[in-house]
Amino acid sequence: MTDVIYLLAAVCFIFALKGLSSPSGAYYGNWCGIIGMLLAVLGSYISVGTSDILFSLIAISIGGGIGVILAKNVSMASLPQMVAGFHSLVGLAAVLVAFSAYWAPELFGIFGINGIRKSSLLEIGIGSAIGAITFSGSLVAFLKLEGIYRQTNIPICANGILGAAILGLGVCFVESGNATTLVLLALGSFIIGGTLIAPVGGADMPVVVSMLNSYSGWAASGIGFTMQNDLLIITGALVGASGAILSYIMCRGMNRSLLQVMFAYDQQPEVQGKNILIPAESKNYHSGSAEDVAFILKNSRSVIIVPGYGMATSHAQYAVKEMSDVLLKNNISVKYAIHPVAGRMPGHMNVLLAEANVSHEDVFELDEINKDFVSCDAVYVVGANDITNTAARNDPTCSIYGMPILDVGRSKIVIFLKRSMGSGYAGIDNQLFYAQNTIMLLGDAKKTTEDVVKALS
Ligand code: NDP
Repeated sequence: MTDVIYLLAAVCFIFALKGLSSPSGAYYGNWCGIIGMLLAVLGSYISVGTSDILFSLIAISIGGGIGVILAKNVSMASLPQMVAGFHSLVGLAAVLVAFSAYWAPELFGIFGINGIRKSSLLEIGIGSAIGAITFSGSLVAFLKLEGIYRQTNIPICANGILGAAILGLGVCFVESGNATTLVLLALGSFIIGGTLIAPVGGADMPVVVSMLNSYSGWAASGIGFTMQNDLLIITGALVGASGAILSYIMCRGMNRSLLQVMFAYDQQPEVQGKNILIPAESKNYHSGSAEDVAFILKNSRSVIIVPGYGMATSHAQYAVKEMSDVLLKNNISVKYAIHPVAGRMPGHMNVLLAEANVSHEDVFELDEINKDFVSCDAVYVVGANDITNTAARNDPTCSIYGMPILDVGRSKIVIFLKRSMGSGYAGIDNQLFYAQNTIMLLGDAKKTTEDVVKALS
């Protein structure tokens, strides 16, 4: 019975991933995931019996309650941090399960004639190592995304030595089954998790978030082996593999290799500070009013909207949608251009635009839309900076060098909505702000877009 339910749950998870891979299928994909998870919990109860049901229901209510409160209160802008925080819990769970299996092997049925079986020692070693790396790596990612901790350069050879030591400890542990070796293995993995993520530059953080997602999947799969739970093995492998594929796709989008990101080599030091202010008098820029911008838009035939992190923080997506509706009514073509690392998590902008009911047919990825900027009359950049920054092409010393950008500067007029002349996540000034064809509409993006809508109307 349990096997059949687990199989059905696994099928649901596969359909969930399939559905979530496109905006049109995301709603049904989500439901498949929910049903799969309910089946998984049901299957677990049938498999282990319900003698401790009260205890586990209390635990689920406390954990679930905290999850609901966090999810309801988190702002869209802080979602990546929350995801990183959740990944760290998966890693910690893997370590705790591995330790429990080691210290109470009889409960896990892994006791052989001469103590714990070698194959189980291998699972415990791998589970605790990947779990500890996921735990500390996700914590460091959380602190970096929260802006509490900044990039620290750690020599690649230091990580290499630590990695070799962890490998050696792993082999020793499987051979000896020694408790101290297991603790040292987990400790070493905990340290390397942090030292691998600490040197990663701002531009590579999206890939790191997706890679940690993948690690958390492998950690869950490791727990599955220890607990001899087929569903956990399958689900963990699905998360691990899909996270790894997503990381690869994102790397390709950013013109980086997975190894470059994973081992943080070939990194330029991050120019720190979320808002590096360029004194206004030192560079000339054209600033405009909402009325000026409305005039330009009304006299355009085609407009491309480029959303960025600032749209998330200002919750401007609804006002942006309202503005595009007004433009469409005036027979002006409107498209949305999405950069793979816009915002602070993979798919951040797609989520916000879907929230505001923007049709996904009007939303285009970087490769699809970059050629359209030349023939476009106006580009409306809502709180985006790095994803349009020409330094990624022209300045080999900057941390985002080599990252493909949205070619907004090639259109006739570029309108940047920002609160100041400050830089973005990577801390690099954007030369486009001072270009002849650029207009800066300074202020909170939601407020300024609402003013543009008023002026258009
Ligand atoms: P950026 O951080 O480069 O720029 C965002 C801009 O929004 C800032 O220049 C800021 O300027 C402006 N802004 C902030 N708040 C407001 C507001 N209320 N109203 C108007 N403007 C506002 O974001 P991008 O989306 O261009 O680029 C994403 C960056 O984040 C990349 O470097 C990427 O590597 C990194 N990253 C992405 C992740 C992902 O998974 N997508 C994860 C982690 C990092 P001002 O302060 O002047 O208003």
